[in-house]
Amino acid sequence: MSDLRHQWDNRIHDWPTILKVASDLGLSGSGHHFFCPGCRPTGGKQPELVIHDGNFECFRCGAKGDVVGLVKLARHCDTETAIAWLEQETGEQLEGDPLPPP
Ligand SMILES: [Zn+2]
Repeated sequence: MSDLRHQWDNRIHDWPTILKVASDLGLSGSGHHFFCPGCRPTGGKQPELVIHDGNFECFRCGAKGDVVGLVKLARHCDTETAIAWLEQETGEQLEGDPLPPP
């Protein structure tokens, strides 16, 4: 499971994909800054959660982690559920769950 999580971290590091994941999670903000789902679920004056290189960090509550961690924080779910959600959102499946041949 930790291997799979690592693969997702490697997979989701380009900005367009991160942006899509963030907006699908219902996060709003501007530029690379978002309102933290942990401490600012309803928004606020300034978005304090920064996403860069596939990692996030909130300067308000100190929450940080990888993309899988962001999904967990925003959806209040466990790692397995977060990865399943990412598979569904991106339409991708990583190793251990091979796609059938075309
Ligand atoms: Zn926060």
